[in-house]
Amino acid sequence: MYNVDRSSKQQFYQSKEWVQVRNFKRVANPYCEICERVNGLIVPMSEVDHIQDIDELPRSRWLEIDNLQSLCKPCHSAKSITRHKQKVKEAKDNQPSEEQKILLKAFGLLGAIPTS
Ligand SMILES: [Zn+2]
Repeated sequence: MYNVDRSSKQQFYQSKEWVQVRNFKRVANPYCEICERVNGLIVPMSEVDHIQDIDELPRSRWLEIDNLQSLCKPCHSAKSITRHKQKVKEAKDNQPSEEQKILLKAFGLLGAIPTS
């Protein structure tokens, strides 16, 4: 776990490098990747999301294109909520539930979480 403070995150999201990478991703995949993968739906994306949270990555990996996915707004919010719930649950018993595992898998997060 990397302790990333709020202001360096803000700085990052305003940086020229991030804006360039984000724009590249928007053009490379203008559709929501979760809607497509889970439901076979073609939905225009609205956010470029870090698959693995930048809190969990060294600064040098924040711009990795392989760690980015295009998401629509509802999927982006769903991911944030799931992540939040998962963190709360992890704090409780250290294990994601079966239902959460399905969601986490859909969000490409399962590998990022220790499951034993
Ligand atoms: Zn979506």
